[in-house]
Amino acid sequence: MKKLVYMDNSATTPVKQEVLDEMLPYFNIKYGNPSSIYSLGSHSRTAVETSREKIGSTINAKGKEIFFTAGGTEADNWAIKGVAYANKEKGNHIITSKIEHHGILHTCEYLEKQGFEITYLDVDEYGVIDLNQLKESITEKTILISIMFANNEIGTIQPIKEIGKIAKENGVYFHTDAVQAIGHIKIDVDELNIDMLSMAAHKFYGPKGIGALYIRQGVKIDSLITGGAQERNRRAGTENVPGIVGMGKAIELAYENLDEKNEKLIYLREKLIKGIFDNIDYVRLNGHPTNRLPGNVNICFEFIEGESLLLSLDMEGIAGSSGSACTSGTLDPSHVLLSIGLPHEIAHGSLRLSLGDFNTEDEVNYVVEKLIGIVARLRAMSPLYEKVKEVR
Ligand SMILES: *Cc1c(COP(=O)(O)O)cnc(C)c1O
Repeated sequence: MKKLVYMDNSATTPVKQEVLDEMLPYFNIKYGNPSSIYSLGSHSRTAVETSREKIGSTINAKGKEIFFTAGGTEADNWAIKGVAYANKEKGNHIITSKIEHHGILHTCEYLEKQGFEITYLDVDEYGVIDLNQLKESITEKTILISIMFANNEIGTIQPIKEIGKIAKENGVYFHTDAVQAIGHIKIDVDELNIDMLSMAAHKFYGPKGIGALYIRQGVKIDSLITGGAQERNRRAGTENVPGIVGMGKAIELAYENLDEKNEKLIYLREKLIKGIFDNIDYVRLNGHPTNRLPGNVNICFEFIEGESLLLSLDMEGIAGSSGSACTSGTLDPSHVLLSIGLPHEIAHGSLRLSLGDFNTEDEVNYVVEKLIGIVARLRAMSPLYEKVKEVR
């Protein structure tokens, strides 16, 4: 089999060996139920609580403010629905943005059908929300602001500290979907005035199907999953012990030498962007030029369909994505790219390459070289491109 060049680290990441090694005993040796009182159970309990403390301390929260979920989507659902239902006496208005992950957007649309009012903030050409529009949108009925930390498609990082300040001044809860940011950017929930924060282990070299919602002490929020008394009575169901252990190890590793890792990622990112821009015409970088995730590259290639680009890359052993993993497979252009003002036909030709800890400079060179050939070949089949070339 041809070597795989994996550049889709925003969709998911491989579990690191050290993470897997820590998890394995919890499947078949230390398999006790954390709620059981004998030693086998209490070993599991200790492992869960150790992981909770590690995750809490990483974001300057208390361990008891971390609640495990089955991933980022559940954490998003819980934050939005939980706050909406628990605070509906106070108000029915929620503010979010047009470029959120579907875990947020579809949950807000669901609440709209139940009588909640949602404001979807615009973003500028780089994907940044307008703080004035945010301030003006707040009413007496506003109970929650939910703005993602960093966008999964175009990598743009939002002015989280300013949003937190506005939320606090107005007595409104602030939730952030930080699934793309945790493990890649330093986050202090106190400094940023964050009340709730969603995370998912598989975006930082941990296992899939495990995540957490940070809930600041005192936040009024209903449970989403009811049943047993796990997670201090707030999220029922036997804990995913191996997953929780893996998430704790993964977050620890993620923040080791973070600056060094990010320096390398930014170097590779800029090299990839430059390689494409120097060699291919009619391209456009999506997202903020500098204030973006270290590993995120998102580029539109005019006159090309993103899907055909992906298939051609796959034949060369390169894994990338167009739009987000959840939207590829459909023919709808990404709501994020449309929100930053791209016309439909250009939004269709977008490619996201997201770099991670295992990518190398050789891989970047290989991808640029392959892209040059693929783009030329696909454009040769485009009547529109031929016409544009003639005019020049
Ligand atoms: C991946 C992702 C999610 C969903 O997380 P899952 O663990 O896959 O459910 C939510 N928000 C953002 C920004 C993401 O990138």
